[in-house]
Amino acid sequence: MEYDRCRLGAKGGIFSGFRGYAVALASVGLALVIRLALDPYLGDLGAYAPFYLAVVLTVWLGGSGPGLCASILGVLASSWFFIPPRHSFLFEKPADYAAAGLFLLASAIFVAFVQALRSALRSAEASADRAEQAGRALEESELRLKELNLQLESKVAERTARLRETVAKLEHVSYSLSHDMRAPLRAMHNFAELLLLDYSERIGGEGNAYLRQIVTAAERMDKLIKDTLAYGRAAHQDIALGHIDTDRLVRNLIESYPQLHAPGVEIRVEGTLPAVTGNAALLEQCFCNLFNNAVKFVARDTNPRIKVRSEQQGPIVRFWVEDNGIGIPKEAQERIFEMFERAAPEHEGSGIGLAIVRKAAELMGGKVGVQSKPGIGSRFWLELSSA
Ligand code: ADP
Repeated sequence: MEYDRCRLGAKGGIFSGFRGYAVALASVGLALVIRLALDPYLGDLGAYAPFYLAVVLTVWLGGSGPGLCASILGVLASSWFFIPPRHSFLFEKPADYAAAGLFLLASAIFVAFVQALRSALRSAEASADRAEQAGRALEESELRLKELNLQLESKVAERTARLRETVAKLEHVSYSLSHDMRAPLRAMHNFAELLLLDYSERIGGEGNAYLRQIVTAAERMDKLIKDTLAYGRAAHQDIALGHIDTDRLVRNLIESYPQLHAPGVEIRVEGTLPAVTGNAALLEQCFCNLFNNAVKFVARDTNPRIKVRSEQQGPIVRFWVEDNGIGIPKEAQERIFEMFERAAPEHEGSGIGLAIVRKAAELMGGKVGVQSKPGIGSRFWLELSSA
């Protein structure tokens, strides 16, 4: 490759400048010697034959200038030595002028052809060079990209581990805090109730109203803490997944919850619910929270009607809990699964129940969602793998 580049890349040939003209002289000289040697056999015939070869050789080795020079020398040598009248640069016949012109023309065409060939080869070489350089640059970029990817992956892994550690610590702190907050809260609640019981007359009507507000606020606060702790427990549970008889679990749950049998409440399980792979405690928590909400979020003059049903979708089971409640506005349907998010502030609640459902579903490898129309009702779904 390197050798070729030297040869073809040179402007004229491998002998450039003065050396190219020396090649012209040498090759014309050689052609002259050969033609002189053959002169007794050829006579006036083939005066230019060896000089054609001399021109070809000169053009190839010395380039276009020396090539043209060789062709002129060839004409002069032929006319002087071989074309009658010999030892003169003039010709006798017009055909001899034509032959000389043809020789010069052929030499010029050959020079042009070799030049064109050389420049085509040079540009092909330049393209090959550029392609080679681009290839090398691409390889280098790919290597660099791989290196950066590896660095990035290890950084992400390291930061994720640190983040997990921090989140675990934070969750632990918030869990302990919530737990420890309940004791003083209970004391405040109990003392407020004692005041209401024993000193109600001395405190007076306005004081009693304030005390009742303290009791209600403390109860609400206690519920909030209890729900937060329940979320923490769900999130930190070491869960073992296994075969769950969902139909039995749901029917037992309905049996054991008095609010689901309150007068006017109707709850119906459609068909036999299929078994799933999950965790009994988490699944019970999911249905319990969904049922409680279905009973709670109904308009004042409406009797809650709840339907539980299932759909098999390949290896997945989708459970539906449908109600005739107040419904949920479209823009709130996603955020209500976040902690402390609520869509109906006029109803009591902590905004944690659905966050627990989502966490529990995720821990069991499932998903949860809702379809709802305000004023008509909601359909919560829970997807799990079938057993
Ligand atoms: P909480 O019930 O304690 O407020 P949840 O996390 O269980 O908390 O529910 C979040 C919010 O989602 C509720 O405040 C309510 O606005 C809405 N919601 C949940 N279930 C229903 C339902 N079945 N019908 C209408 N709204 C609901």
